[in-house]
Amino acid sequence: MRQKIVAGNWKCNTNLQEGIELAKAVDTVVASKGADDVVVVLGTPFTHITKVVETVNTERIGVAAQNCAAEAKGAYTGEVSAEMVKSTGANYVILGHSERREYYGETSETLNKKLALALENKLTPIYCCGEALDIREAGTQNAFVKKQLDETIFKLSSDDFKKIAIAYEPIWAIGTGVTASSEQAQEIHAFIRGTIAEKFGNEIAEGTSILYGGSCKPSNAKELFANKDVDGGLIGGASMKAEDFIGIINGF
Ligand code: PEP
Repeated sequence: MRQKIVAGNWKCNTNLQEGIELAKAVDTVVASKGADDVVVVLGTPFTHITKVVETVNTERIGVAAQNCAAEAKGAYTGEVSAEMVKSTGANYVILGHSERREYYGETSETLNKKLALALENKLTPIYCCGEALDIREAGTQNAFVKKQLDETIFKLSSDDFKKIAIAYEPIWAIGTGVTASSEQAQEIHAFIRGTIAEKFGNEIAEGTSILYGGSCKPSNAKELFANKDVDGGLIGGASMKAEDFIGIINGF
């Protein structure tokens, strides 16, 4: 179902105590000021998930892992499986973030395994896609993103596809302070929705939440979220301060 979603991605930041404090602060501001029709999600480090689930009102705030293993279980030292994530009380998992693709060599093949396991374990994948600066400068971003989708989430059954959310995150905007303009965001979100319609039909396309990510902050969230194909945001830096995060949630 198409929902307004604002999801934080804390990345590899905060120790456990700092993470609990941040979760408490977000819980308090969301309870007092957060728009009720916006789904709020916190993407925390694995080590924090259980405590964050205990700390926040989970009726109001969802909790996400930032990754999960490509295997169900077994001799994979250091990996955290989708089943483990689910057993903490988390209900989302961010998959395919550009940092994981770039620094950890995550391929479409790996992502397909992770997507299958996430869905099997009833986690909602927030699937990330988006192009680097050279691709944007060459004007080939639509073809690039379409290829990412074709190789991964477009291989899902329509029943499974309905269970995911997408985050379009231009790599040139992530953590750079440069945000896609409202027109650029709307243009590619509309393109993504159009490709979903071609693949799965209009009803499913209209029901898919497509979030924008890349230097989203309270000062630009309103303009970005006003676009008809932008259903919210995946937020890195600005999710680390409860007041900024609530400012973005209230951008709707
Ligand atoms: C992200 O990494 O998902 C992200 C959007 O980061 P930032 O908001 O800091 O650009």
